[in-house]
Amino acid sequence: MNRAFALANQKGGVGKTTTAISLGAFLAAKGSRVLLVDLDPQANATSGLGFDKWHTRHSTYDLLIGRCGAAEAVLPTNRRGLEILPASPDLAAAEVELASAEDREWRLRDGLQAMSDSYDFALIDCPPSLGLLTLNALAAASDVIIPVQCEYLALEGLSLLLDTVNRVRQGVNADLRVFGIVMTMFDPRTNLSEQVVQEVRQHYPKTIFDTIIPRNIRLSEAPSYGKSILDYDASSRGAASYQALAEEALRRSTLLAGAA
Ligand code: ADP
Ligand code: MG
Repeated sequence: MNRAFALANQKGGVGKTTTAISLGAFLAAKGSRVLLVDLDPQANATSGLGFDKWHTRHSTYDLLIGRCGAAEAVLPTNRRGLEILPASPDLAAAEVELASAEDREWRLRDGLQAMSDSYDFALIDCPPSLGLLTLNALAAASDVIIPVQCEYLALEGLSLLLDTVNRVRQGVNADLRVFGIVMTMFDPRTNLSEQVVQEVRQHYPKTIFDTIIPRNIRLSEAPSYGKSILDYDASSRGAASYQALAEEALRRSTLLAGAA
């Protein structure tokens, strides 16, 4: 595995899942072998790629509780190079069931270990909380990608999340890196969107991606067709923006690899 990105933000509805699916599709289209790991009990990445979350044979829940290996749970998608480790609603119980397990925060990392040579990138879609599931994602990841919606109070939530990343660094994963902040649902008709981008850019000039994801209706429609934006409407502005993000992520990834 080249890098494992956790898509994290404790706030719901900011574009984690949309970014995980879209980035995954474009990285795969560019020739990378990508594993999308759905770690949210809502299983939106799973259903967004056309799978029935109620009838997965094996899921990240089974992986975390040790009922299956990662290779058994992985499913191919319509997009060549993109595979998924699906989630199921019972994943919500994992937080409780694992609470007293000694290796509770390592379950995902250990589960994915066997797969590390099979993929160039993993994208781990986190739930909207900073609980044990997100902790597992941050322990398994090399990097965090933080989607931030262009709206009020974006900075507040961001600093809480970055504090969490710092605590994870001091504890379970010293090498964890903040790979980038991606501004989502940008609306050019409002001053607010522009202000929020400028604010985040001012505070985190090196971390924020140049690519900004616009609000685009096609992005919100794609999941109900079980397709990534690349396969649903490749000519949409949403698709173009995620293609640009994938290219920027690849450049950033190469730079970091060179610096390491
Ligand atoms: P999260 O995973 O952080 O909860 P989602 O990716 O599920 O967020 O996005 C929340 C909702 O907003 C979904 O209905 C999704 O389709 C929609 N959405 C996400 N990004 C965009 C965008 N750039 N433009 C329009 N709708 C979007
Ligand atoms: Mg989500």
